[in-house]
Amino acid sequence: MKSFVKLIATGLVLTSAVEAEEVNIYSYRQPFLIEPLTNAFTEKTGIKVNIAFLKKGMVERMKAEGKRSPVDVMLTVDISRLAALVDEGLTQPVESAVMEKNVPNLYRDPGKEWFGLTTRARIVYVSKERVSPNEVTTYEDLADPKWRGRICTRSGTNSYNLALTAAVIHHHGEAGAQTWLEGVKANLARKPQGNDRAQIKAIWAGECDISVGNTYYMGKMLADPEQKAWAESVRITFPSFKNGGTHVNISGVAMAKYSPNKEYALKLMEFLTSPEAQELYANTNYEYPIAPDTKPAELVQSWGEFQVDDVNLMELAARRKLALKITEIVDFDG
Ligand code: FE
Repeated sequence: MKSFVKLIATGLVLTSAVEAEEVNIYSYRQPFLIEPLTNAFTEKTGIKVNIAFLKKGMVERMKAEGKRSPVDVMLTVDISRLAALVDEGLTQPVESAVMEKNVPNLYRDPGKEWFGLTTRARIVYVSKERVSPNEVTTYEDLADPKWRGRICTRSGTNSYNLALTAAVIHHHGEAGAQTWLEGVKANLARKPQGNDRAQIKAIWAGECDISVGNTYYMGKMLADPEQKAWAESVRITFPSFKNGGTHVNISGVAMAKYSPNKEYALKLMEFLTSPEAQELYANTNYEYPIAPDTKPAELVQSWGEFQVDDVNLMELAARRKLALKITEIVDFDG
């Protein structure tokens, strides 16, 4: 009896091996981050993973491909990009008790169209030399006239800054957010330019004393011999909203509406949300895993703890257009 069962089991494996056991990903995230994960998945399941790494145009590409699209699973950062995939009808809801256990409510779509994998906080970097430890404790502080000419930031229309401005709208309304942006603009040391790391370099060079940036850039700079000194010239502070917490954004995953390999896509998504995969993913890029009982890397833990602003991420995505409008009205980059 035992050998009979075994035989059937072997037969099943052989049958399914005739079809290709593979799953296709479109990823906005880079190979150094995704390949360790997909390699671990293939090792565990035998399912092959094909990845197209995209810099832009995922929505357009999927729309053009329509029902014949080969993509099963999409990986990206930023809630606005996940929301755009949903808004364009390019995703499908996924029922999975495993993913619901692994991904806290705050970080998944109530409609089950996307699931978060890691978070990053958008925080304030301050000069160790010229700003004392608790001088900036809120996002509202950034608009305080006492910082005239001392803040550096990238463009206000950058997606990270738009998500932050959307959070300001959530806490202070449209008019309040406009006043805040005007205040921050008045405090700028120079016109918005460059990326998050360029602002920290400017602090190191003495051009400004405070910048806004994502947490993981600290880890990336420390790991880069050329940028290490920039990182060492600043201190991380986790500001919160006066009536809330620290603004975070996510990286996440969604299943394509016309996924041709749905069964394997589900397996991959469940694997990606697993605590072990989240930690691997988060640690590779100094982000925060979100599954219960997971921890970020020691370096990331050393930056301190913070209370996450628990605004619904879909609400931030919905306010993105308004955030852009205000940014343009204020002529933040001008
Ligand atoms: Fe980034």
